[in-house]
Amino acid sequence: MGALKLNNLRKSFGAVDVIKGVDLEVRDGEFCVFVGPSGCGKSTLLRMIAGLEDVSGGDVEIDGARVNLAPPSKREIAMVFQSYALYPHLTVRDNMGLALKQAGQSKAEIGQAVERVATMLSLEPLMERRPSELSGGQRQRVAIGRAVVRRPKLFLFDEPLSNLDAALRVHTRIEIARLHRELRATMIYVTHDQVEAMTLADRIVVLNAGRIAQVGAPMELYNDPANTFVAGFIGSPQ
Ligand code: ADP
Ligand code: MG
Repeated sequence: MGALKLNNLRKSFGAVDVIKGVDLEVRDGEFCVFVGPSGCGKSTLLRMIAGLEDVSGGDVEIDGARVNLAPPSKREIAMVFQSYALYPHLTVRDNMGLALKQAGQSKAEIGQAVERVATMLSLEPLMERRPSELSGGQRQRVAIGRAVVRRPKLFLFDEPLSNLDAALRVHTRIEIARLHRELRATMIYVTHDQVEAMTLADRIVVLNAGRIAQVGAPMELYNDPANTFVAGFIGSPQ
């Protein structure tokens, strides 16, 4: 299970309101893409869902339970960032296993889980390397693998492909789509790339200045945008 519900979610930094009342239900297993201009609050929303940022108002619910006060480690969420965030002193194998080690799993359990995901993402030849010995694309595959190893209910991706060149972006996007099919996990994915949004999403959430401008299936938004802002973002003919 990994259903997510946001009820009138708000966030202010000092006197600045950044998220201004977001209501959203993401069903278990859904691939939900957030799009919107830089600074509209996409990362802040993800960080509140993950528990990396306090909520100023409203609720985050996972599978019906309010988690506003739960620390990130208790939310069964894994987040993948644009900047990989791997530990430089650890090998790929140890980066991938670290969360399980911290959760107290046995060496054998960790070894098995890491091997299974390494196979899934074709990471076997890289397992003894350190992040500095990997290309950007390889690092991001490791960061995705590290998230998968934890078997989270909910994956959060924050512009995971934006540091990759065009060919790798396509390759990694296809890999993420395959992972979604195989794992049947709920995924929330932030991007400003229209092709990524249109091809990956079950539903797209268009954000503008801390509010939801429109939510719908890709072709619904494309064919019937609520306003010129949504049309511009989705690439509908205007
Ligand atoms: P996006 O990911 O859509 O580009 P962000 O969620 O990163 O947008 O930021 C939304 C707004 O909140 C921006 O105006 C940003 O400057 C502001 N912001 C984000 N984090 C902080 C912070 N820790 N302190 C103050 N302002 C912040
Ligand atoms: Mg951002």
